[in-house]
Amino acid sequence: MLQVTESQVRLGLSAADKTEAIRTAGRAMVDAGLIEPGYIDSMLGREAITSTYLGNGIAIPHGLPQARDLVRQTGVVVVQFPGGVDWGGEPARLVVGIAARSDEHIAVLQRLTGVLGNPAEAARLGTTTDPGAVMAVLNGGETVPAPDAAAPLAGPSIAVTAPSPHGLHARPATALVEVAKRFRSEIAVRHGGGTGNAKSLVSLLRLGVSGGQPLTISAAGDDADAALAAIRAAFAAGLDESTVSGTPPPPPPARAAPPADLDYDGQVIAGISASPGVATGTAWKFQREELTVDETAPDPAVQHRRLDHALAGAAADLRNLHEEFWKKAGAAKAAIFKAHLELLDDPEMAADAHARIDAGKGAGWAWRAVYEERANTLAQLTDALLAGRAADLRDVGRRVLRLLADATESVAALPDHPVILLAEDLEPSDTAKLDPAMVLGLCTAGGGATSHTAIIARSLDIPAVVAAGPSLLDLENGREVIINGDDGVLVAGPSGRDRARAATARVAVAQRREAEHLERYKPAITTDGRRVEVAANLSDPEAAVKAVEAGAEGIGLMRTEFLFLQRDFPPSEEEQLEAYRIMVRAMNGLPIILRTLDIGGDKNVPYLRLPAEENPFLGVRGIRLCFEREDLFRTQLRAMLRASAEGPVRIMYPMIAAPAELARAKAITEEERRTVGVAPVEIGIMVEVPSAVMMADRLAKEVSFFSIGTNDLTQYVLAMDRLHPVLAPQADGLHPAVLRMIERTVAGAKAAGVWVGACGGIAGDPAGAVLLAGLGLTELSVAIPSVPSVKARLRGISMAEAERTARDALVCDDAAEVRALVRDRFPGGAA
Ligand code: PEP
Ligand code: MG
Repeated sequence: MLQVTESQVRLGLSAADKTEAIRTAGRAMVDAGLIEPGYIDSMLGREAITSTYLGNGIAIPHGLPQARDLVRQTGVVVVQFPGGVDWGGEPARLVVGIAARSDEHIAVLQRLTGVLGNPAEAARLGTTTDPGAVMAVLNGGETVPAPDAAAPLAGPSIAVTAPSPHGLHARPATALVEVAKRFRSEIAVRHGGGTGNAKSLVSLLRLGVSGGQPLTISAAGDDADAALAAIRAAFAAGLDESTVSGTPPPPPPARAAPPADLDYDGQVIAGISASPGVATGTAWKFQREELTVDETAPDPAVQHRRLDHALAGAAADLRNLHEEFWKKAGAAKAAIFKAHLELLDDPEMAADAHARIDAGKGAGWAWRAVYEERANTLAQLTDALLAGRAADLRDVGRRVLRLLADATESVAALPDHPVILLAEDLEPSDTAKLDPAMVLGLCTAGGGATSHTAIIARSLDIPAVVAAGPSLLDLENGREVIINGDDGVLVAGPSGRDRARAATARVAVAQRREAEHLERYKPAITTDGRRVEVAANLSDPEAAVKAVEAGAEGIGLMRTEFLFLQRDFPPSEEEQLEAYRIMVRAMNGLPIILRTLDIGGDKNVPYLRLPAEENPFLGVRGIRLCFEREDLFRTQLRAMLRASAEGPVRIMYPMIAAPAELARAKAITEEERRTVGVAPVEIGIMVEVPSAVMMADRLAKEVSFFSIGTNDLTQYVLAMDRLHPVLAPQADGLHPAVLRMIERTVAGAKAAGVWVGACGGIAGDPAGAVLLAGLGLTELSVAIPSVPSVKARLRGISMAEAERTARDALVCDDAAEVRALVRDRFPGGAA
């Protein structure tokens, strides 16, 4: 096992600044025969990307992975600066320089992490004049309580093994936290010398558990046995690692840096491919706003309240962001914000920050210290997946900090022309906010292909390269660059030949999109003459104009509940009427399906003061809530019916589960229609509850149309919460079980002569569009940007082949098999 020798401990030094301290540590490493002198520059380079300050006066400078060849042997040196060296606002007293060719130094680091949570011990080592004191701790001669190392809990315990291959990284750790939080007992996870709180994601991640390593889990409390049984079962099921069916497309494999002679004339900056595509444009360095917080504050009670408010506010923001992104990009892509909520809902972080407030710190200062400390610890872990979560934690931390900042200095916004964004690193919410029209591509110095920023970039269709190294940030704004997301490189100062090559690579995709755009007003008629209507989903009435411009043949779903969100009281009948009229005018005779309120589940309307529910998706939502709050329902129906006098408005009820509900909703609608005095309108229902599918033949007799809500239908058929951070990616609407439900719905509708459409996410999916058409749906309602491509996709296929494929899909085993089948039958069909 790696040992720190006396010659590797240097006490009582001083340095003017961080750079000098790193150079001093580097020279000590050279003297100890650990590194070549060139490695010191790499240590400084690493520091430019991310601070290696761990907390409690400890920093651990080390080089970038590219410089590993300059490491002669794995080892550490400890350099003590008793007077402290400013390390980004914090005084570092113990600087531990690390040279790593292998994982041997991990044990030393873990013991260091033990010191981290113990301020008295950190202070002792930061000022001791006895090298033996430092060696005793780092070599394991003395046991320092780990940050979370409470004494083992006085209760039962179980022994389990961390899931392979990646150990307790974010997804399995999140799954463990979710299980643990269901129980009242305190639950501790022990690994090596450290103990983590099973209800704290950060605490678990900090344990740095690799795949196959043994863990002991103990619980204390009245439900300790039940908790341990549930945890044992969760481990036996692989903590969601082994249950993933392969449905979510894997991130592109991280590729090694391309050969230096990659065929470009310009300056090639190599990174890792994170999102495909090629773009040429001018560089622009991304900067976040500067947040300033005061270190001390006079009144702790006020600071405690501020922190609580900020935490609650940030959680509300994340829920909204999740909702918004869920609509834009689907459950799998939105799951990151659910994971962020989990990071935020960490009892230890809040408790730690409150403790610092008690010690006289301001709320913002205390909070920043807590999340930065934890993020730094995560960033140093050798497991790339775990280290990647540091960016997530900082993202969550800054979200709260923004609400606590004493001053915010905004920095230059993006210019008013499209750019290629360069950044040190991007937080997922920064990326989610990017407008693909203004950001042609993005390249980050840090990050990895599995980071959520990379996932979001892919979902926004922005070419991206990550891990390009700090030299990226030397490029000046306005410099011409090419980003090649397929090859994982950024080319600065390209030659004419480079530009031509990039242009050729872009042409194929651009031509396809252009062709789709030009043909967007043509109906979607298959090669054998069958027509499918392509409509748009809306949540904002003003967007109706854009839907028409994109070639939509109607509005297949207006999520009217969005008119009720982000305000303090419900919109009046007149306000709603005006919103519906805007749509009627924009659509100019094209049909509009207005769905009545679908509040509940994940859509909260605080001013309605609805009771909290244990299982909101199985509770009073959709039409059930309309019956509970008939006042809202009737007001809305009157506005819809009045709008129907001016254009082809159809009314659709959400979450119908039984004929009696439909009868009741229709009776209320009819009463209001008589009051308003307009002609009858077409009435339809969302088919999104399995019982509605099973009763489709009966329900069909009472409506003019069905629209299948595949988002909810999938979650209810597969019993997977559509917001679940772990399960959501598996909840693929192309699962044969869901397709069979759709087949059954169509059969019930056909017998009654009723048409069937779909407005859930898979209607806009290239494979989904083909299968839904093949199953007999005659209308697909999709997100506005997908309208031209879905129409083109349908125009390119034969319905006979789509029907045959749909029939074969019904007898597949899972969604992955269905997707493979469609790829096979309809190659090259990007929609
Ligand atoms: C659905 O469930 O598929 C649907 C379109 O409705 P929402 O996403 O608004 O629940
Ligand atoms: Mg729904």
